[in-house]
Amino acid sequence: MVKVSVIGSGYVGLVAAACFAELGHEVICVDNDARKIAGLERGETPIHEKFLPELLARHRGKRIRFSGSVKDATRASQAIFIAVGTPPSENGEADLSYVEAVSREIARAIAANPNEYKIVVEKSTVPVDTSQGVRRVMELNGAPSHLFDVASNPEFLREGTAVTDFLYPDRIVIGADSERCIALLKKIYEPLTDGSYYKNKNIIPEPDDAQIPARLIATSAKSAELIKHASNAFLAMKISFINAVAAVCESVGADVGQVREGMGADIRIGKRFLYPGVGYGGSCFPKDVKAFRAVAQHCGYDFGLLDEVMRINDDQRQRFIKKVRNALWILKGKRLAVLGLAFKGGTDDIRDSQAIAIVQSLLKEGCTIAAYDPAAMPKTQASGAFSSEAVFFAANPYDAAKDADAVLVLTEWEEFASLDLERLRTALKHPIMVDGRNLYQPQIMAELGFTYISVGRPDVSAKKNAAVPAPGAD
Ligand code: NAD
Repeated sequence: MVKVSVIGSGYVGLVAAACFAELGHEVICVDNDARKIAGLERGETPIHEKFLPELLARHRGKRIRFSGSVKDATRASQAIFIAVGTPPSENGEADLSYVEAVSREIARAIAANPNEYKIVVEKSTVPVDTSQGVRRVMELNGAPSHLFDVASNPEFLREGTAVTDFLYPDRIVIGADSERCIALLKKIYEPLTDGSYYKNKNIIPEPDDAQIPARLIATSAKSAELIKHASNAFLAMKISFINAVAAVCESVGADVGQVREGMGADIRIGKRFLYPGVGYGGSCFPKDVKAFRAVAQHCGYDFGLLDEVMRINDDQRQRFIKKVRNALWILKGKRLAVLGLAFKGGTDDIRDSQAIAIVQSLLKEGCTIAAYDPAAMPKTQASGAFSSEAVFFAANPYDAAKDADAVLVLTEWEEFASLDLERLRTALKHPIMVDGRNLYQPQIMAELGFTYISVGRPDVSAKKNAAVPAPGAD
């Protein structure tokens, strides 16, 4: 057992804290948002994440406790993980002010009670060489240099499957420049790397493609920091690549699904993360690609490829709006059902969501929106993303579709892939679906009476219900 604290109880920090407790460690989960800590203490789970409520209920008050004090948590811990936000600043660089503020507090706590070696671990996504910056700030704030080390342990979890990603990872990367620090990090992850966690009863169920035991990669701190930025930039590039291929498919009448199948069969390419859509979004890819671009610039390397990745991504959103316009001709005054607001399925996170950006553009064009999302509606309402009264939040997909001129699919929620399409069609004023996530088969949609427009595949028109009114008709 290792005494661990996690500073920052957001999507990453809270999941990491709950999973460390699940691995048998004693954990203090810290946040400077007093309301969040009070809610967690009352038994609430502030984010929508599968298995997280179960893990928190299992360990709350036993192996995990919550606190607002970095100082108390530092004193009580051997390893302090920093999991605060690293948002983009105006020039695209990562804003490290939260990381710096936490480092300062940790240093002061160590300086006030300098008796035990501790490690400070960057879990947040940070630019290469941040560990040196953290070390410098800590020394400046009185932490004796022989009493601490700084490590990088980037997090690769995906929202929606965060708990299983953490407990069944493809790899665990630990980067540090001291053997002592690496040894403590290895001990923290040992239940996953020696496989002992997977032999316990009542563990979180194994996902389909789990790699057991987990693979651990130990590197220098700088390499670990770079692994995270390079991985996210590469994944974003894969998405932009297939979106560009989808655009070519659209102009020549090919099917991007078939192209993906053929490309992905090459194991050097692989099928995963080759789905075309409305472009990548969320709190990581957009900011991490920008930040990595800025890192390269600082190093004197012109990483223009990343500019193109970002350009294609912005373009993809515009292309989707153009499809809606093509389907409806005039957008002003049209009522649109929107399925999905979260940046991806399985989460309530709307940060940098393409769905939100698309709805905002459609509102500017004069559309009325009836939106439905299984988890993200409260956060959307609270965010004030839509100040307009032209947005109505529906109780379910069918209510959203009622009397709409078309339905738009913007998030790949599992529940959207299994809708009662007959019911959806009859609720709509016109049976038109513009699917930004390719959830359905075009031929089946045509047979069901939809005009169906998706990404990188030929558009199809309704095969039955010839009497269905054309757009513009009352
Ligand atoms: P988040 O905004 O959900 O959580 C950050 C938390 O830190 C918030 O609760 C905030 O109140 C708290 N915080 C800020 N300053 C603090 C301070 N001084 N003391 C204590 N708490 C403080 O962010 P997130 O999505 O969890 O991301 C955190 C980091 O992890 C980022 O660097 C992100 O790039 C990285 N990351 C995120 C994901 C993801 O899917 N969200 C995946 C991998 C890596």
